[in-house]
Amino acid sequence: MSIQSLNPATEEVVATFEAYSDEKVQSILDLTAAAWADWKEKSYSERKVLLKKAAEILRERSVELARIAAVEMGKPVKLGKAEAEKCALVCDYYAEEGEAMLAPEPVSDAAKKVYVRFDPLGTVLTVMPWNFPFWQVFRIAAPSLMAGNCVVLKHASNVPQCALTIEKIFKDAGFPDNVFRTLLIGSDQVEAVLDHDSVFAVSLTGSEGAGKSVASAAGARLKKSVMELGGSDPLIVLADADVKKAAETAAVSRCGNAGQACIAAKRFIVMAEVYDEFIEQLKLSMSAYKPGDPLDPATEMGPMSSKGLRETLEDQVKRCVEAGGKVLSLGSMPEGKGFYYLPTIIENVPVDSDVCQEEFFGPAALVFKVSSIDEAIRLANDTPFGLGGSIWSANIPLAEKLAAKIRTGNVYINALVRSDVHVPFGGVGISGFGRELGSYGIREFVNVKSVCVGS
Ligand code: NAP
Repeated sequence: MSIQSLNPATEEVVATFEAYSDEKVQSILDLTAAAWADWKEKSYSERKVLLKKAAEILRERSVELARIAAVEMGKPVKLGKAEAEKCALVCDYYAEEGEAMLAPEPVSDAAKKVYVRFDPLGTVLTVMPWNFPFWQVFRIAAPSLMAGNCVVLKHASNVPQCALTIEKIFKDAGFPDNVFRTLLIGSDQVEAVLDHDSVFAVSLTGSEGAGKSVASAAGARLKKSVMELGGSDPLIVLADADVKKAAETAAVSRCGNAGQACIAAKRFIVMAEVYDEFIEQLKLSMSAYKPGDPLDPATEMGPMSSKGLRETLEDQVKRCVEAGGKVLSLGSMPEGKGFYYLPTIIENVPVDSDVCQEEFFGPAALVFKVSSIDEAIRLANDTPFGLGGSIWSANIPLAEKLAAKIRTGNVYINALVRSDVHVPFGGVGISGFGRELGSYGIREFVNVKSVCVGS
């Protein structure tokens, strides 16, 4: 099987790689298991030095990394550079804070001396998506490595160059051989990785389908899993909100990364009093995203990452129209090839239509008019997803009360939902389970070991 890197802006094949054979994968896992024997004995300060070096390299190479992502998945270089810098931040964060997060915790009310240790367990398999091809990997690799685990990466098949680049960054930072390895494999080879004795857990970021399949495979082997899956985040605009700011943020959510972000707001739920104002501002703000060449430093929105993804979005928008929705496409298509899609606003789709229950993974915004706060909350929760959500209102105490009613892993008030190294991140419902980032993230893949000193 071959793994192809295809430029979504030109539709040209940039590079082709042969997938690793099953034998090669098993021998890498053996090497990783052997490397763990020494790696787990390293002190936190030794691991910290290496992670800090990885951060330095990420900053030095941010322009190069941005170009690789642009060519493989269409991210504008401006965003790619920022993504590389955020990866450096997560390496620095766990390098600085990891030891304290994993420091033994005394159990104070026990009769004897009792404490809890957080020990490494072996190799973590990470199965990652292409949409933030560096960030998704570093946000799980940095805490796992700091905790003393080894990491193997099965990246999305459309970003093999990103995958190999990440492996090289850890190597160049001085991590011992085989502590971090990239496996160029297809999704059908993931189960065999889980079969290896040294692999004790899997962290997958991706779609519901991939999540179900990999979580089942892990469960069947009694191996732990963390699932970071899709979202259909609501953004609620109350009548007293700063409507302009809310609409500008809505446009960032739908057009940044060409709308291909799990935690981007996808459903805009707006009180009737400010609905028209919101729509007008949304049109203005989304029109500013002119699709263009991702390698051009001025480009704000590139193409979608693949033909298939664009077709899925086209089909969803068609079904919105069939259900009675009104569609407005903004701007004009760039000339030539590329999987571009224009910023699109969709109104009047009946909330009970099937298409409303789906994730729109591209620059299309579904906007709903509501006449009460209760209706807004009901609609926000009328989805099987539960990743993030935001509430826009001048009344912060009210917004905080409403935050408790929204069934998601994150709620932001008057701000864009984003992943922040300090803040636990993850979802409920079909958006997955487990948490990344913050202190919760580093404790997902350790042995929480109680030590009791008897008398
Ligand atoms: P995807 O098709 O599920 O792929 C994600 C990863 O899973 C890829 O490495 C893919 O490998 C692998 N995979 C797919 N099916 C598999 C299977 N049956 N067994 C083993 N591995 C499998 O998702 P995507 O289209 O790349 O990414 C978009 C989705 O990810 C969206 O739903 C988005 O919301 C979600 N996402 C969630 C988060 C979060 O933090 N919650 C963050 C980013 C994205 P191949 O490429 O080889 O198929």
